[in-house]
Amino acid sequence: MNAAERFLQVCGEIGNFTEKRTGVSVVDAYFGPDEFHPKKQSEAKTATDLVHDIYIAFDTLRDEVNDPLRFEYMMGELHSLNTVVDWLSGKELSYAQLVEGLFHIELKQFPEDVIDESIRLLESRISEFPGKDLRDKVTRFGSEGEVTGNDLKILIEKELQTKSKEVGELFRDRIFSQMGSSVPDKGVQYEAVQNQPWSGYNWYQGDFKSLNQFNIDAKFNKDTLLNVIYHEYEHHVSNLWREKAYINSQELELSIVPLHTGRCVISEGTADTAKEFLRVTDDGPRMQVAEALNALRRMTSINAAIMLNAKRCAVDETVDYLVNRGFRTEESAKRSINFISPTTKDGSINFFAPYIFTYFTGRTDFVLPMYKKAVEQDVLPEFFKTVYMNPYSGSSVTWRKAFEWM
Ligand SMILES: [Zn+2]
Repeated sequence: MNAAERFLQVCGEIGNFTEKRTGVSVVDAYFGPDEFHPKKQSEAKTATDLVHDIYIAFDTLRDEVNDPLRFEYMMGELHSLNTVVDWLSGKELSYAQLVEGLFHIELKQFPEDVIDESIRLLESRISEFPGKDLRDKVTRFGSEGEVTGNDLKILIEKELQTKSKEVGELFRDRIFSQMGSSVPDKGVQYEAVQNQPWSGYNWYQGDFKSLNQFNIDAKFNKDTLLNVIYHEYEHHVSNLWREKAYINSQELELSIVPLHTGRCVISEGTADTAKEFLRVTDDGPRMQVAEALNALRRMTSINAAIMLNAKRCAVDETVDYLVNRGFRTEESAKRSINFISPTTKDGSINFFAPYIFTYFTGRTDFVLPMYKKAVEQDVLPEFFKTVYMNPYSGSSVTWRKAFEWM
């Protein structure tokens, strides 16, 4: 078996391992050959077996893979998967070690004076909106245009379906045309679901299609929903290019999309920067408020995740923090806890507990500064080619190296 085949095999085995322990497979998408399908890999391997398999894969990589970016990308992914196995097999890991081991980024808590600054920005942007004080203004802002339940289901399955076609066209007109290249796109199907820890999810199906699910237990208003569409569509687009690269190069490791690796940092970072990529940033007062609120909530959610997972604070204390510092309603704070808690409602390990760090760090420390540099240097076509046409750029391990040309 060659290095890429071993990579697929071990990803599939670890997918079965994580699914058994948490209900979620670490394999997020697969569009490779049937014989290496994750579901066809062993379900019986112990943590020790899996770590052994990872070390064999390391050795074959060292022997076979000469391209330095591809080599570092695959090594980084396997190191992350090793941390996944350690974590779920009960090895003693601090939350910081877990986040660093999975994503190759530092766990950083936001000091409260930074949160204060973010609240002041929100305060200045929302000052003209109705309400007696800041909390009242934020609550009213959030409930304006709020859609829930069946109305939300109809909005998602009808209106968003149409909107997504427009977003797809924007990607073609404003990004791919600059790159002088195109990618097949059979579109995204929208579906409303319930009982999930996330608010939206892009399931890449292979064959250039995605299923986007929205959790209608969450409350959406039009501002937040639109932001979610750009984010989720960018995930779809980045997988389209990955599948195209796989078909052209036949490098098997491109046909699998694992969660909880350095890849996720860049993937969430590009998704959270899609509006800048597409030049649809809206300077209207509502969007200005929505963005300030979004940044504040990303930061306070990270602090809340550290409270729950590292400091082992009680749920009630953490909910209070999200209400007081993130200006959430109690209901929204309680719902957002589902995504960051160490355990799920039924007491098993919450697979998403470390994931919250990918979004803010991916955008702020990786994607946005590089995008801004590309704008300054007037090299956007090359920037987008590196992002979309070089799949090995898409990891926190390789990102900076992939842009050394800039
Ligand atoms: Zn995402």
